[in-house]
Amino acid sequence: MRKKQDEDKQLEIMRHSCEHVLTQAMIKLWPGQIIAAMGPATDQGFYFDFDTKGDLKISEADFPKIEAEMKKIIKKDFLFRKEKIPVKKAQKLFAGNSYKQEWLAEIQEKGQGSIVFWTGDKFVDLCTGPHLKSTGEIEAFKLLSVAGAYWRGSEKNKMLTRIYGTCFPTHKELDEYLNKLEEAKKRDHRKIGKQLDWFSFHPAAPADIFWHHKGWIIMREMYQYWREVHQRKNYQEVRTPEILTRKTWDQSGHTSFFLEKMYRVLSPEAKEWDLAIKPMNCDGGILIYKSKPRSYKDFPLKMGELGVVHRYEASGETLGILRPREFTQDDAHIYCTPDQVKDELKKVIDLCFEVYDTFGLKLDHLELSTRPEKSIGSDEIWERAENIMRQVLKETKIPHQINEGEGAFYGPKFDFHLNDSLDRTWQCATIQLDFAQPENFELEYTTAKGTKERPVMIHRVLYGSVERFLGIIIEDCAGNLPIWLTPVQARILPITEKQVKYSQEVLAQLKKEGIRAEMDESSQTLSYKIRGGQLEKIPFLLIIGEKEVEAKQVAVRQRDGQDLGGKSLPWFIKKAKELIKSKSLGLVNS
Ligand SMILES: [Zn+2]
Ligand SMILES: [Zn+2]
Repeated sequence: MRKKQDEDKQLEIMRHSCEHVLTQAMIKLWPGQIIAAMGPATDQGFYFDFDTKGDLKISEADFPKIEAEMKKIIKKDFLFRKEKIPVKKAQKLFAGNSYKQEWLAEIQEKGQGSIVFWTGDKFVDLCTGPHLKSTGEIEAFKLLSVAGAYWRGSEKNKMLTRIYGTCFPTHKELDEYLNKLEEAKKRDHRKIGKQLDWFSFHPAAPADIFWHHKGWIIMREMYQYWREVHQRKNYQEVRTPEILTRKTWDQSGHTSFFLEKMYRVLSPEAKEWDLAIKPMNCDGGILIYKSKPRSYKDFPLKMGELGVVHRYEASGETLGILRPREFTQDDAHIYCTPDQVKDELKKVIDLCFEVYDTFGLKLDHLELSTRPEKSIGSDEIWERAENIMRQVLKETKIPHQINEGEGAFYGPKFDFHLNDSLDRTWQCATIQLDFAQPENFELEYTTAKGTKERPVMIHRVLYGSVERFLGIIIEDCAGNLPIWLTPVQARILPITEKQVKYSQEVLAQLKKEGIRAEMDESSQTLSYKIRGGQLEKIPFLLIIGEKEVEAKQVAVRQRDGQDLGGKSLPWFIKKAKELIKSKSLGLVNS
């Protein structure tokens, strides 16, 4: 993991340096008209936010010109040179740039000096680095897109222009990345969801999902699978209220730490907000825990909820079903004794692997985030918890990375980062130890000795958000969902009207067997109907012509292009049911 982290760091430095080159090129091309705000490296490349003077508008059509200018800067191999200067001097250097002035005022307030970086001796930016030695080290870069972005991500601020770009150590790597980006565009879950009539969006409910019939079938299957797994693992499923009192959110600390994302509710007789829609399921679950005395004999107590939560994400942050404002968190809370923590963590990790396997997703790595500077709980309790987590990593031999000091203030956590077929990583499951809520809510259990103790509380999600997880799956398989998730598992295609009667019998039989099937009765040609079924990514097309009626067969065509030929209906039903039951990722012989 160490080597990869070093490479990632080096790549980040290169991308950040490339962003300076972009800024320099823009200012050279439109002198006096570009006000540089800020721009960091990201895990996919970099971006640069800027404001423009007058009626200057930058679009993707300007990219060739900007890229040519960037190439010139790279060719000149300017040195990156660090200089520490007094804030007063920096304020003069960036006169007329209100964004830099805002940073500088903050630097001044903290009593720090300002650091600037020169590229050659004409271009300077407020930045602490680090950068490459010189611009010539940048090898392969590309500008990707333009978007609007609020200054510092707040809708109260001015909308700036953002240019996204990326760069890589070699042209080969850049080309590979650009190819994957093209493929990702084709697989955009929003495009597929619309095309297949799974879900839609409407300004009437900004950034929320309207699930259509077929999409809802998929969601129901996702829930059903979750229930199956959790029942088997002795979790209790609960359902807690959507709206809880302000007092409860005060008690859990959400009003101090999460308020800006919470939908506050005014009950009809109240003068100010007295209720809030839940952004998490924890509070409700805890109140069930508290509804009766608990004993060590009840432990580990595992309570799960497919809870619909609402979080007011900024409009620039929402993204299709990957990040809506309303979503379903597949939350569960495990209450146990300190001695049980290790075992429980291992069990949750096993469960994560089981679930990801079912969907064909592979683990990239696990991250352990440890105690931050500001935290609650004693040294002893943190040390004990972190030691257990480190031990779990050692014993399970899972590839991992440790983020020292990056845990939540209330406890350390594990995050699962998964890989998809386009080599992108997605953070999904989180397993979080929590020392705060048992205190906040004064949770207790009776020990074997008859004394009262606080239980250890573990929060965990497997999907994370069910909607987001589905979005990842859709893009991973380009909409070719495994058959158990597919809304239409088989479609019957009678070649002419003469086969409709037999086709109807076949349809009734399939439905009776629990296979989601439908019939295409349109008067289109067979090739048109086949093409339609393929576009809709239906696993099986069952073609019925005169020959099939006579032989009491169906001609089976698979989504992957395989033509299985004439088969008896019982054969098909048996195969389809096997594939569905085993949650197969492929079809027959694939
Ligand atoms: Zn910099
Ligand atoms: Zn929780």
